[in-house]
Amino acid sequence: MDLGLTHPQRRLREEAASFCASVRPLLEADPEWQRQGMLSDGDSLAVNAALGREGWIGLSWPPELGGRGLGRLDATLVEEVFGYHWLPLSSYLLSYKTIGAALERYATAELRDRLLPPIARGELVFCQGFSEPGAGSDLGALSTRAVRKGDVYVVDGQKIWTSSAQLADWIYLAVRTSATEPKHRGISVLVAPMDTPGIEVRTFPTLGGGVLCEVFLDGVEVPVANLVGEANGGWTVLMHTLDFERITAEKVGGVSWLLDGVERHLAEHGRLDRSSRERLAALRGEAAAARLVSFRAADALDRGVPASHLAAMAKLGGARLVQRAAAAAVELLGLDGLAEGPAAAVGGRAAGMLRASVGSTIAGGAAEIQQLVIARRGLGLR
Ligand SMILES: Cc1cc2nc3c(=O)[nH]c(=O)nc-3n(C[C@H](O)[C@H](O)[C@H](O)COP(=O)(O)OP(=O)(O)OC[C@H]3O[C@@H](n4cnc5c(N)ncnc54)[C@H](O)[C@@H]3O)c2cc1C
Repeated sequence: MDLGLTHPQRRLREEAASFCASVRPLLEADPEWQRQGMLSDGDSLAVNAALGREGWIGLSWPPELGGRGLGRLDATLVEEVFGYHWLPLSSYLLSYKTIGAALERYATAELRDRLLPPIARGELVFCQGFSEPGAGSDLGALSTRAVRKGDVYVVDGQKIWTSSAQLADWIYLAVRTSATEPKHRGISVLVAPMDTPGIEVRTFPTLGGGVLCEVFLDGVEVPVANLVGEANGGWTVLMHTLDFERITAEKVGGVSWLLDGVERHLAEHGRLDRSSRERLAALRGEAAAARLVSFRAADALDRGVPASHLAAMAKLGGARLVQRAAAAAVELLGLDGLAEGPAAAVGGRAAGMLRASVGSTIAGGAAEIQQLVIARRGLGLR
């Protein structure tokens, strides 16, 4: 599809595709990769290290922070290619696209200099501790407390659904620093190494084939210097962090790969009839729309104009696309679509993606919350 890209942007995407081909043997040898449904949700430290080594992490950061001085739009164009090649991207998406972007904007110069270069080298992986048992959609209700004692905050509480906490080096934590301020004004953001005494991680399996984590925080001492943004000013930081997270071009890439694979499989088996062609074409139309919204949101971030409603549209469109495309793939493939494993139709990915797709309208903020953001910040409704 002609996306109206510039010559350097097209070259960047071709280089990204070559990189993906070069790490393919690494992936095929990884049993975890074989089990994962939606691969961009999966994790591989080996792939993250290769991304860092080859200069693919931090495209939008300045060279002195380990980046290439390009824009968020360029990074998003590349993320779609990574998704098309089904790279396990959880570490990249958390550490660079989401938390790294927030650190670049809100962290002190000292924290930025300390954390961003190793993220860009693929040597430092973050997880994101926002959700709690009593605070998900209503994130402002979070109750993990951070009490200042001299030069440290002492943190007590629990996080849940934390992706990649089992292998992360650092955690990006939303905490309550004031019990007296109205709930959205008593929140701060801290970063801490995962080996800080008092942090315990427990994993549990997901429908998607991977794991999520609970993170328990018991008397965890975090230096005040590790505060990101202002004390009690964390709400704004959290909302911008979610904007970065919600641009999901990699999901569109994964869907495009699946649709191409289904079409090829049906053609090879003499089953590509008019109705299946029409169904695939309609889904490709939805994918094109979701892709363009992601690109628009990234472009808005580059231009410094409000992007929350565009990011929410990208998230909602991408998540629903994943669900519809996975369900259609399984239906179109028939019984072949239910088998999993490399020898099955489309590498057994249709059923895996259907399993993983359930979480896509929950992770990063549930679909109803995206609709609220679009209504309030995009349409000005109250
Ligand atoms: C695969 C996956 C990965 C995740 N990774 C992370 C992570 O790394 N870090 C992290 O912090 N969290 C993570 N999460 C958690 C995720 O952010 C929350 O699950 C999500 O915000 C929803 O919160 P909740 O589960 O508490 O559900 P609830 O907030 O209890 O929502 C339950 C239902 O009620 C609806 N609802 C709630 N409020 C409203 C409202 N005002 N209007 C209309 N409907 C409403 C919701 O839309 C939803 O359908 C992950 C979740 C998944 C599925």
